[in-house]
Amino acid sequence: MMPTDEDTPVIPIRGETTEDAGVRILPAPPVCLHWRFGLHEETRRVTCGRCGREVDAFDALMSLSLEVDRYVHRLERLKGDERLVQARVDDLRRQERNVKARVRRLKAGERDVLAERRAARGAGEKEAPDG
Ligand SMILES: [Zn+2]
Repeated sequence: MMPTDEDTPVIPIRGETTEDAGVRILPAPPVCLHWRFGLHEETRRVTCGRCGREVDAFDALMSLSLEVDRYVHRLERLKGDERLVQARVDDLRRQERNVKARVRRLKAGERDVLAERRAARGAGEKEAPDG
C-alpha cells in the first residue's frame, strides 16, 4: 500500500527539500514573521520591510503596540535601576566626604601632637641649663 499525504509525517522545516525522505514540508506561514513594516501612504498598505509580503494593518498596529508596551515596561525597570544606582552613588559620596573629614582631623591631630612635642622639647631645653 502506497503512503498517502495523511501518512506523511509533518516536520515544520523550511528551506529544505526532503521529498525523497518522505517528509512533507509545511509551506511558509501565511503571515510574515519579520515584523519590519513598510508603510505606503498612497495605497495605505502595509508590507514587510524585509520580504515585501503584504501585512494586515491591524496585525502591524498590534505588533507595534505590544512593542511600545515592552519598551515602556523596560523603561520603568531601568528607571528603578537608575534610582538604586543613584542611591548607591550618593552613599559612596557621603562615605568619601566622611573619610576625607576623618583624614583632615587625623592630620590636624598629628600636627597638634608634633607641635606639643616640639613645645615640650623647647621647654625642656630651656629648663636644662637651670637643672
Ligand atoms: Zn517578511
